[in-house]
Amino acid sequence: MRTLVYGKYLIRGAGERRQIVKNGAACVEGSIIKDVGDFKVLSKSYQYDLKVGSEKHIVMPGLINSHDHGNGISLILRGISDGPLETWVQDFFYRGMEGWNTYDNVMLSCINQIENGVTCFINHYYSPFDLLDSNTHTEDVESAVRACVDSGGRALFSPAFTNQNYCTYEDGSFLGTLPEGIRRSFNLKVATESDKAERLKQYVSGFRELHRKYDGKDERTRVYLGPSNVHWVSDDAWLEIKKTAKRLKTGIHTHLVETRYQAQYGTKFLGKTPAKHLDDLAILGPEVSCAHSIWLTREDISILAKTRATAVHNPSSNLRLFNGIAPALEMKRAGMSVAIGLDGTTINDEQDMFQEMRLCSLLHRHPGIQARHLSPNEILDMNLTGGSKVALDEGGIGAIEIGRKADMILVNASRFTVPFVSEKLPLIDLLILRAKGSDVDHVMINGNLVVRNRRFLMADKSKLLEKVGKWKEKNSGLDQNLAKLVDRIRSFYERWDGGEPSNRMNFIS
Ligand SMILES: [Zn+2]
Repeated sequence: MRTLVYGKYLIRGAGERRQIVKNGAACVEGSIIKDVGDFKVLSKSYQYDLKVGSEKHIVMPGLINSHDHGNGISLILRGISDGPLETWVQDFFYRGMEGWNTYDNVMLSCINQIENGVTCFINHYYSPFDLLDSNTHTEDVESAVRACVDSGGRALFSPAFTNQNYCTYEDGSFLGTLPEGIRRSFNLKVATESDKAERLKQYVSGFRELHRKYDGKDERTRVYLGPSNVHWVSDDAWLEIKKTAKRLKTGIHTHLVETRYQAQYGTKFLGKTPAKHLDDLAILGPEVSCAHSIWLTREDISILAKTRATAVHNPSSNLRLFNGIAPALEMKRAGMSVAIGLDGTTINDEQDMFQEMRLCSLLHRHPGIQARHLSPNEILDMNLTGGSKVALDEGGIGAIEIGRKADMILVNASRFTVPFVSEKLPLIDLLILRAKGSDVDHVMINGNLVVRNRRFLMADKSKLLEKVGKWKEKNSGLDQNLAKLVDRIRSFYERWDGGEPSNRMNFIS
């Protein structure tokens, strides 16, 4: 199968060498880009089975969502209001739905992303079923990974792992202060050493099986280890996870200092920052990606730069969950690898990476005449080159170039170039400052057309929406106790604050 993809402009290459080809085209053979160049020349040089494009289109590499949890249904619509992460997660965990179907939920998330131009995404998957309930848990995780495979997307599937501090970052002292009734209704227990070891054993054996079955599936799927965060995973487990990643030559995806309290956990319980702790355990390396990374110190930034780990910036999630602003400009200037993620918690809840890149551009404009900021090309590069590092596929995805994998999107520029556009405006500035996910007409992943004329071709989206529309909020009977639990958690962290609210957005500000 040979396809000609073309447009008024085509964005070729990566980084500083990224260039715009006017009337550009790419010849795709199978899953690989065979040639890139002038539309007329390429039209004549090869015979094609299919031609996709028009005068209105900008052809660019498919976008990469480097952190997400695969929730297809808007949390806002589910009535889960934005709030500080420490209390928000409780609301999120205990809000059940009758009729819930993991496959459909994850498929919907894949469709939402792909339609908006994301061709490669991480799913750091949290199953609603306990790890120790091994059959149900395994079945649920497999439904999630199958939805990713069936969506036609390039997926980095990373089942999440937690084995301590389920309720707060200091369960040992917190749970003892809770009334018995609340503790019992949520089955809250301090994890013992043997609980932690048992969970780790289950996780690693389940992971090995999942990896064997799905890693490399259809040339598009990778299976990564997914330790949740420093305070949620015991040191033994971190070491075993690192060993497993090395043995299976796969990636590790985690959260890191997403909130002020997670940073304080380091000071209180480790006597150092969580990033320094991971470095001391020799966990960090090029195969490690750390979502959020908001409360990094300057020393942490040099550690991450030195170990070549990637930080994943989630601009709108960080704002929606009251977590601050990651020091993305400082990270980039320190030579760190930085990618961008949606975290399923974006502006308008629309999983629109163009809007996310725009917010990223607006957030990191330091006040003053010296105009310290990230250029639109740097932001696109964070998404594409940073994302390709997270995908452990730097020479494969993230650029339109001969020999690369054919992940491309065609953006229809008609809406955002009315009534005219100045010749002086660089094309990448135009895309970062004006385009939306809804401007993407066609999406090609691994050489296959997955969206054509804004229609998703791998599943019937309207039928799926109709089905999911029948789900109902579950009346769990826990609501009153949940409100009490959340209150307790709030006062617990207020004590960590020492009664003083902070007006800093990260350690560096
Ligand atoms: Zn997350």
